[in-house]
Amino acid sequence: MKAIQIVKPGNPPELREVDKPTPGPGQVLLKVTAAGACHSDDFVLNMPAEGFPYPLPMTLGHEGAGVVAEIGSGVTSLTEGAAVAVYGPWGCGVCHFCSRGLENYCTRAAELGIAPPGLGNEGAMAEYMIVDDARHLVPLGDLDPVAAVPLTDAGLTPYHAIKPSLPKLVGGTTAVVIGAGGLGHIGIQLLRHLTPARIIALDVSADKLAFAREVGAHETVLSDADAVANVRKITGNDGATAVFDFVGLQPTIDTAMGVVGTMGDVVIVGIGDGVAAAKVGFFTQPYEVSVRAPYWGARDELIEVLDLARDGVLEVATEQFSLDDGLEAYRRLAANELRGRAVVVP
Ligand code: NAD
Ligand code: ZN
Ligand code: ZN
Repeated sequence: MKAIQIVKPGNPPELREVDKPTPGPGQVLLKVTAAGACHSDDFVLNMPAEGFPYPLPMTLGHEGAGVVAEIGSGVTSLTEGAAVAVYGPWGCGVCHFCSRGLENYCTRAAELGIAPPGLGNEGAMAEYMIVDDARHLVPLGDLDPVAAVPLTDAGLTPYHAIKPSLPKLVGGTTAVVIGAGGLGHIGIQLLRHLTPARIIALDVSADKLAFAREVGAHETVLSDADAVANVRKITGNDGATAVFDFVGLQPTIDTAMGVVGTMGDVVIVGIGDGVAAAKVGFFTQPYEVSVRAPYWGARDELIEVLDLARDGVLEVATEQFSLDDGLEAYRRLAANELRGRAVVVP
């Protein structure tokens, strides 16, 4: 079968012929119906070869959807042909965090050699993929897999990032979203649906700002050296109650820290260059600001996000590619040319 793989760090991915896998005990084989390309893939592709954390070559794709094609021995909760989405941040299932559904924060995954598809295991950018356990599958029902697959990360991650700030985002407050890409454009819609807050979106071009307004931002500001002043013109002295940085580069983290108001939240979701950081100290930011950097989301939260989509409150923008065109999807992702999420349909 065909698969899009990272072969050599620092190089573009490659479309290669690999063996179709067979499910072992407890595993499930999916015929992939859709796979989303995430900016984190681009980060991984550009990691240095020395100390590269994953086995190579590795099939990319940590956003996956499919139909159950074959069931390993011992799996009783699934039927062949069922349409499912893959919950990607696989954990052990039994540690304290996993038992709360927070497999993204499994404390034993590393020692047990458990890793997500596309981030340590063979991913979804292929005709078939292995899922390690039936509990990592969520029924799609009649959701379109192409529109739904970004929800497994580009929807789940903003949802998990936004939820703890919901009690603060009451009427009259402001939420700032930096980066209206795959994650950001769903983040804006989640904020619109879940809060009465005014939403200010920041991005780097007029096109991206227009897109942010289309998906629900009330105001937009160009993400440049004047961004802090321009956001503060809108918020006044109150500043922003919550800032969600879906970029994570030093200039955007600085903007986030510059626009947040007293008792506000700064939520750093973007990985940026991997080293950018927020500076926190008594005299550095307004009183009682909280800074957090969440990773992905919980199993129950994926079910909730898919339910929101089923209720029609999330409109996921996708650009569709075949597996043969998948390398172009990654090129456009790296060049910042996409509108919403690139989804590969094998
Ligand atoms: P994307 O490429 O789809 O979107 C990025 C957006 O940010 C684009 O619209 C781009 O124009 C905009 N942008 C770039 N530089 C900017 C700047 N200086 N100021 C404002 N906007 C800017 O990326 P994505 O797939 O949505 O991922 C976003 C980030 O989140 C990436 O860093 C990715 O690695 C990270 N990520 C983190 C998690 C997590 O669990 N924390 C999960 C998924 C993705
Ligand atoms: Zn991702
Ligand atoms: Zn665990």
